[in-house]
Amino acid sequence: MSQTLFEKIAAREISAQIVFEDDLVLAIRDINPQAPTHVLIFPKRAVPRIAEATPDDHKLLGHLLLKAAEVAKKLDLKGGYRLVINNGVDGGETVPHLHVHLLGGRHLAWPPG
Ligand code: 5GP
Repeated sequence: MSQTLFEKIAAREISAQIVFEDDLVLAIRDINPQAPTHVLIFPKRAVPRIAEATPDDHKLLGHLLLKAAEVAKKLDLKGGYRLVINNGVDGGETVPHLHVHLLGGRHLAWPPG
């Protein structure tokens, strides 16, 4: 199987602005930011999307969310922030490697478009 974009970033084959890394996850600045702070947090082990996660992934998924909150704290998003997971075509997914968007630094409207 060919590597996903985010696996290539984790392997340092493609460069990215890394804001956090541990043995399980990586957090990078989005190349096309939709807010003053727009970070992507993803597991190094590729899960295509949340709809394809299995019970075996539950620890990894918990870790991913906890680290997203830790990155938000590190980036000082005191006014609040939003975590988003896009799933499938209608959900706006473009990279088939599960990732959490962390958006902040401005007021975010609800409902989203
Ligand atoms: P999705 O649309 O799948 O939820 O999110 C994919 C995100 O990856 C998009 O926000 C897009 O801007 C970002 N992205 C796509 N290619 C690259 C890249 O090469 N580097 C970085 N840092 N972000 C990327």
